[in-house]
Amino acid sequence: MSQAGRLAENFAADFVDALRRIAGARHVFTEPADMAGYLTDWTSQYSADAVAVVRPADAEQVSQIVKLCASAGISIVPQGGNTSLAGGGVPSKGVASIVLSLSRMQAIRHFDEAGRTVVAEAGVVLETLQSYVDERGLQFPLTFGAKGSCTLGGNLATNAGGSNVVRYGNTRELCLGLEAVLPDGSIFNGLTGLRKDNTGYDLKDLLIGSEGTLGVITAAVFKLYPKPLTRVTALLSMASVDAAIRALNLVQDRTGHSIEAFEYIPQPVLSAVEKAFPVLKSPLQGPVETGVLMEVGSSRLSDAKTDDDGSNQLATELLAIFEELMESGDIRDAVIAQSEQQRADLWRMRELVLESIMAYGAAYHFDISLPLANVSWFLREMDLTAAELGFETLTIGHLGDGNLHYALVSADREAWQDLPLGEAKAKAFELLKQLNGSFSAEHGIGQSKLDVMRVLKEPAQLDAMRAIKRALDPDNIMNPGRLVPAAE
Ligand SMILES: Cc1cc2nc3c(=O)[nH]c(=O)nc-3n(C[C@H](O)[C@H](O)[C@H](O)COP(=O)(O)OP(=O)(O)OC[C@H]3O[C@@H](n4cnc5c(N)ncnc54)[C@H](O)[C@@H]3O)c2cc1C
Repeated sequence: MSQAGRLAENFAADFVDALRRIAGARHVFTEPADMAGYLTDWTSQYSADAVAVVRPADAEQVSQIVKLCASAGISIVPQGGNTSLAGGGVPSKGVASIVLSLSRMQAIRHFDEAGRTVVAEAGVVLETLQSYVDERGLQFPLTFGAKGSCTLGGNLATNAGGSNVVRYGNTRELCLGLEAVLPDGSIFNGLTGLRKDNTGYDLKDLLIGSEGTLGVITAAVFKLYPKPLTRVTALLSMASVDAAIRALNLVQDRTGHSIEAFEYIPQPVLSAVEKAFPVLKSPLQGPVETGVLMEVGSSRLSDAKTDDDGSNQLATELLAIFEELMESGDIRDAVIAQSEQQRADLWRMRELVLESIMAYGAAYHFDISLPLANVSWFLREMDLTAAELGFETLTIGHLGDGNLHYALVSADREAWQDLPLGEAKAKAFELLKQLNGSFSAEHGIGQSKLDVMRVLKEPAQLDAMRAIKRALDPDNIMNPGRLVPAAE
């Protein structure tokens, strides 16, 4: 029986009618077939029923829906592109909820050429904003594999990271203000785009990374950046992770901090991508101990200036650095993209890693971060433990910012059931504690990491989070059972 069915029939019918009056009948779904795509998460691990899926057109409708749900005691699960890797954007089993999809709120409201900002609604797909800004000669630098489906609201709610954090920061650093509907239905309008505004507690920063637990983000102002006039994209085979980190800092020093992306992609991962997508082939020779996909970008005219041999200043500078690092033994092999197509092919390999790991076999994915100096220590210790316990590992990461996506895997899906996952997780979390790392770097807590959050987050921080949640959402209607574990 559906959730609408379980609620008292008259009550459910009245509630759904009220939703229809607010958003329009065409934008309220209650039939299982219409709701299906909204009820199961991207990983297919989490799935639950909902009373309805509603697609409001604007902040005013969101406000009315939130007030209606509050009075009816129905929970609200905000949803953007439903690409969460933490099960955060779909309902929980046994909780009467609606999915509030932001998919109709796709307006890019304002482009401010002078201030280099853009105001866009929460349902705008990340790639759409990237293209819009690109056509106007600037860059919105947030980027990662799900860019074609994830939305700005979801990016903000999870404080998404991705490949360019090393240069531009997480979504939080890219956002100058928000419009949001709070759990009491009030609309908070903070779309001024000011770069300085010290007028008290920053609601924007509370809502960013709150995973839909403190309100519904309906629009935001984002910072824009100059578009690189030239880029060098290289796939490097490095001697070790420490050698890669030395190269990272050397290139930063010599290019004025111009690394846009510095992605870790070792041989087992390259092989998994080649296996899952045979058209994609790593251009590097031989096994790659420590593969790095590096992209350096510059908007300086002097860097883009072409020499007589057709190469530009930035490429010449990087070639000289690579030669130096080859002599020192830190780089073993390097392939530099010679065309936009080659660059796109290298990025395609990187962006298809998650799908490749999922195709490879059963997996448990850690999304962790570490101080750069401790990354190789973690990998060495954890790889040893994993092997001893019978796991294979497929690890990638946004190495430039210390974020690893460390996956324990088994090609044999049946054998996976018998592997000691609990023991391996305990070792990883112990190591992270010892090495000042974080158990959740960029994907969020959602439902999948609540157990870890309860145990590993500092009690003082957990208590403060619970107090904030209670103060803003006393009836616990906003995405309950996510991010903030209930007190025991
Ligand atoms: C192939 C792939 C690669 C990925 N790579 C990365 C990566 O490199 N870096 C990274 O950070 N993430 C990555 N992700 C995870 C995911 O794409 C991001 O977390 C993304 O920001 C989620 O956006 P979404 O619109 O799909 O949000 P959803 O999945 O719909 O929702 C995510 C969370 O945000 C809440 N939410 C959504 N919209 C709103 C709103 N308007 N107001 C309030 N709360 C809201 C939801 O309730 C939920 O808790 C990847 C995912 C995939 C599938």
